[in-house]
Amino acid sequence: ITPDFEFSASMIGRYLECPKKFYYSRLLHLEDKENINLIIGSIEHEIMQGIYSGIQESIFNEARVTEVIDTVWERYRDRFDNEVDEGIWRDYVIGRIKDYIESFGHIRGNQVITEEAFKFTLDNKYVFTGRIDRIDIRDEGDEIIDYKKGGSGKHQALINKFKKDDKDYQLPIYYYAVKELLGMNPTSFSYIILDFNNKRICEKVQIPIKPGNEEINTKTLNAEVLRETKNKLLRICDEMLGKRISFERGEKAECRNRYGGYDCEFLPICNKS
Ligand code: SF4
Repeated sequence: ITPDFEFSASMIGRYLECPKKFYYSRLLHLEDKENINLIIGSIEHEIMQGIYSGIQESIFNEARVTEVIDTVWERYRDRFDNEVDEGIWRDYVIGRIKDYIESFGHIRGNQVITEEAFKFTLDNKYVFTGRIDRIDIRDEGDEIIDYKKGGSGKHQALINKFKKDDKDYQLPIYYYAVKELLGMNPTSFSYIILDFNNKRICEKVQIPIKPGNEEINTKTLNAEVLRETKNKLLRICDEMLGKRISFERGEKAECRNRYGGYDCEFLPICNKS
């Protein structure tokens, strides 16, 4: 890859899972075909964007929410194999959105920005692109929000994804995107997990970000930690450029997990598995 390559949080995640996986998916573009989880994730993101766009009221209007769900759903109807599947998934999505509104819908900023696309150069070195689901602007501080279809993990586990485990750099990338492009100083990053731990409950995990090098605990971050993380991220980008053509199997790569019922989607073609 060349120095003008455009990085993203998901690309970095792929590379850290397994460099060979990154090579297949992002350089050869052999992406797995659209699956139901991707479709439902897209539907939920579009509904969340729709219910917040142009909203003035402090509580959600049920008729308006239903209209947004119907409009978004209509665009995706032909992606389902049959009407029974479609009905089951529709009930699931409506349940998740209603649960979100009941639990967290009343919490929002004075101003809400949704689906903010970004492209910026990190430390005058590497270009990053992406799209932030939502930014809530408040007098007391701005909150970056990311919607997730599912997943688990609370504060410490989500922080350790980049602080210790080198797995996912989404939070620091979005933090620097908001700082660089919008001139904001985010004071928290929140994950809204619509189906937490497959329990069909919506969970919000809000990680406070302090502005300097204040004392923090395992559930909080400060700007100093994010600066250190940025340096780690730059080193990962350096390494990716240094590889140029040869992307080998990563030390932590999981080709198959018999107990978790997982097979890497590139297993049938991979000569490094
Ligand atoms: S099969 Fe294994 S080595 Fe090959 S891309 Fe997948 S995780 Fe990497």
